[in-house]
Amino acid sequence: MPNRTLNFSAGPTALPLSVLKRVRAELYNFNKTGVGIMELSHRSDDIQFIISDSVERIKRLFGLDERFEVVFLQGGGSLQFTMIPMNFSRKGEKVDYVDTGYWARKAIEEAEILERDVAVIASSKDNNYINIPNIKDIKCRPDTKYLHICTNNTIFGTLWHELPKVPVPLVADMSSDFMSRAFDLCPLGCIYAHAQKNLGIAGVTILIIRGDMLNNIPDNLPTVLDYRTHIKHNSNYHTPPCFAIYITWLMLQWIEEEIGGLKEMEKTNIEKATLLYDFIDSSSLYSNPIEQKSRSLMNIVFSLSSKQLENKFLYEASHNRIMGLAGHRSVGGCRASLYNGAKLKAVKQLVDFMYKFEKEHH
Ligand SMILES: *Cc1c(COP(=O)(O)O)cnc(C)c1O
Repeated sequence: MPNRTLNFSAGPTALPLSVLKRVRAELYNFNKTGVGIMELSHRSDDIQFIISDSVERIKRLFGLDERFEVVFLQGGGSLQFTMIPMNFSRKGEKVDYVDTGYWARKAIEEAEILERDVAVIASSKDNNYINIPNIKDIKCRPDTKYLHICTNNTIFGTLWHELPKVPVPLVADMSSDFMSRAFDLCPLGCIYAHAQKNLGIAGVTILIIRGDMLNNIPDNLPTVLDYRTHIKHNSNYHTPPCFAIYITWLMLQWIEEEIGGLKEMEKTNIEKATLLYDFIDSSSLYSNPIEQKSRSLMNIVFSLSSKQLENKFLYEASHNRIMGLAGHRSVGGCRASLYNGAKLKAVKQLVDFMYKFEKEHH
């Protein structure tokens, strides 16, 4: 497949070529059934195997112990902003959040709509979200039900490189850094991540939950909004997004068998990000505003000296078949998203293009 455009979009985004090739074959005939992957019943042995094998692979890749459950949900990262407070707290109860920007704020707003007693116990808002608050300063209210953080801030380009140590359950939105690094999830009570950034396509959200988090779920929740429903039915209570789960399953095989696990995935991701950050730091045209120790490995934001030059940069990038470099509509600027599916070679080509553009415009 020659002539593929380089894709640095913030999501949905690039998938490995080997995954796309396998999809192409299995669209018509999956596992010698004579039926395409999209046409199989969610009750078929094949789909049930894909679901259970994906759960096993996620547990194995992260080294999760038997306390953890893994389920596949719908509704994107955004529905979890609602389901988290619904399942882990009741009206009027305390829930703590850290505000590191756009998505973290959205999670806070949903807990407020549900009339929880929400406290933002740390924030980087006053710094325009260019850093992660110092973890030593993070103190929860003692009787809070959980502390919610967003581990990678897709829009602002910051990452929690270390988790805060708190005596209450930690809940994390990992939508944009899930499976990008070898990260010990065991201190967390609950992790959620949609698939369309690092692990596949839109339509499925992965939820990892520690068993003890299920003990206090209110009994009056609507059935599909209760985590226990999905655990009890092995992610097959109602028709799951089979095709999206299938792509995640292929991505998990790619990470395990082609990349060689999360340590290797992380190594590549660090190499990609370092290449781009080093170039930006050495350049006099591009700049990245993020505090050094809070820099994201996934979303690298940068600006040029003027809005006009930025527009020209984006225009020329697209003419050179490089797409997805515009910053989020809420903040402007530029952003390159280097998720798992973006190859080192593609980042090298991006840096070459940026270098050439700088030479021509300085
Ligand atoms: C993209 C993103 C979301 C939004 O997820 P949807 O699946 O579009 O609802 C939530 N959280 C983070 C960290 C994101 O990057």
